[in-house]
Amino acid sequence: MRRITVLGATGSIGQNTLDVVARHPEDFEVFALTAHSQVQVMAELCLKHHPQYAVMGSQSSASELKELLGTQVSTQVTYGEKALAEVSAAGDVNIVMAAIVGAAGLVPTLAAIDAGKDVLLANKEALVMSGQLFIDHAQRSGARIIPVDSEHNAIFQCLPQAAQQLVGTMSLAEHGIQHLLLTGSGGPFRDIPLEELSKQTPGAACNHPNWSMGRKISVDSATMLNKGLEYIEARWLFNCSREQLKVVIHPQSVIHSMVQYTDGSVLAQMGEPDMRTPIAHSLGYPERLESGVSNLDFTQIGQLTFKQPESARYPCLQLAIEACWAGQWATTALNAANEIAVDAFLQEQVGFTDIAKVCDSVLQSVTTHEADSIETLLAIDKKARLAAKQWLQEYAQ
Ligand code: NAD
Ligand code: MG
Repeated sequence: MRRITVLGATGSIGQNTLDVVARHPEDFEVFALTAHSQVQVMAELCLKHHPQYAVMGSQSSASELKELLGTQVSTQVTYGEKALAEVSAAGDVNIVMAAIVGAAGLVPTLAAIDAGKDVLLANKEALVMSGQLFIDHAQRSGARIIPVDSEHNAIFQCLPQAAQQLVGTMSLAEHGIQHLLLTGSGGPFRDIPLEELSKQTPGAACNHPNWSMGRKISVDSATMLNKGLEYIEARWLFNCSREQLKVVIHPQSVIHSMVQYTDGSVLAQMGEPDMRTPIAHSLGYPERLESGVSNLDFTQIGQLTFKQPESARYPCLQLAIEACWAGQWATTALNAANEIAVDAFLQEQVGFTDIAKVCDSVLQSVTTHEADSIETLLAIDKKARLAAKQWLQEYAQ
């Protein structure tokens, strides 16, 4: 029996995780669930999964949750950042699903890393923000990182077993690997005329052709900054060079990513576009668990196609690739600028193509090379958010 904390339990990844966990009551026990503000959903999850702890974002949402739960379960309800870190690092916990969205996930995810847990990493922004520091902390504590993001989970599955034990520090060349091929669908605006991009609404951006996800990552998929963040995520998880990492558009989302070996072999992981597959893989690793995902039917797929991402359509992808090799300050700043820009887009304060403009402008204004501690990273994050907000203020005038 392994005990799990789910950070971001009310989200798309969090709920899919609990769906898989509930299929294996003999293997997993829920230790803690956390959520920011969705009290009603959290109450339902607590009644179903009986966690020992439930952590909310504020005192008021914690009080509301307590009231809703009454005496129906013995779950202890708490709130705030300190409580998030505590349920991530608690002695009774074996596995932490890191599924908070955005930079807010960094501190609790690092708490799980520092406590040497098995960390199932969905919160890519945490790794994008902290890169080498995140990997160093895992090295020091012996925490095991298993990628949940479907592309990274696919690559992980296609690696030799010996390399799977060396997340963050492997030498791809020593394992006979030439390239990692990150696939992406190209998002909902893949085929529209370029001049129509600026008119796209949040509703259209969140209507992904293949995957059902939270709103922030859906917008990131439309700009392909999501692929950019994943590029940076892959750079750290698999310790690769610029030459070893490539992005390919694959509209059908059947292949979730590939590993190209020096002998010409390419290994791909395929499946339905359903996050319960990588989640179940990360929960069960190295065993396989039933996930509830239906079988891929090759006779229904028809064809698999591939193409290069166009730079005019996806300026955010290029920004992320450049930031990746510019240094830690750049990816931390890009991630922060993007969070502010996406939020403004979702609130209809700026247009779709402004997201890239905000990111570009912030990357040009925030340049500092000190990015080697949590404090300096959080300072860069803050500075970039301020610069992005200033851009938005000027835009509004
Ligand atoms: P979501 O918006 O559906 O859920 C986010 C969760 O984080 C919620 O439980 C919310 O309560 C919590 N949260 C939000 N802000 C918070 C804050 N300030 N403090 C504490 N908790 C907070 O997001 P999602 O789509 O489930 O994505 C979660 C993470 O997984 C993201 O980093 C995303 O990039 C990654 N991811 C998601 C998918 C997917 O299919 N949804 C796939 C790959 C990776
Ligand atoms: Mg992904």
